[in-house]
Amino acid sequence: MKVLPTSRSELLKISKEEYESCTHRKCSICKEVKSVYDFGFRDRKRKNGLVPRRAECKQCRVMANRDWDKRNIEHVKKCKKKWVQENREKHNASGERWRKANPEKVLNAKTRRRYRQKYGESVPDVFIEAVCMKNKIRRKLKEMEK
Ligand SMILES: [Zn+2]
Repeated sequence: MKVLPTSRSELLKISKEEYESCTHRKCSICKEVKSVYDFGFRDRKRKNGLVPRRAECKQCRVMANRDWDKRNIEHVKKCKKKWVQENREKHNASGERWRKANPEKVLNAKTRRRYRQKYGESVPDVFIEAVCMKNKIRRKLKEMEK
């Protein structure tokens, strides 16, 4: 078993033949020596025609990506929150549009049916708005509890 050198400068020095004769590589993250097939390829070819393998094994790469995703999700959440704070009016307007477009989601079908049966007409907009307001207050209270 022939292991690829770990340092970048040494990697650049070795010939193509030598590079291809290496069957193993040490992962830069878990420090385990693994088969070169456990390492992915870099996207770009080097000038000498070599397609260098990645410094970290596929397993570590997957883990690193997962970590990155987690951090990124937090970041996206923060950005969204900030946007809502800075564009509250716009946000409320879009909420208004959403409620108009999806009235059945504000008030479920069962409640609507019951209302129709009792009063012989469909639920008026004022009523829906009142429910929205109630939900809004409930959400606010929940936020304050945190
Ligand atoms: Zn590894």
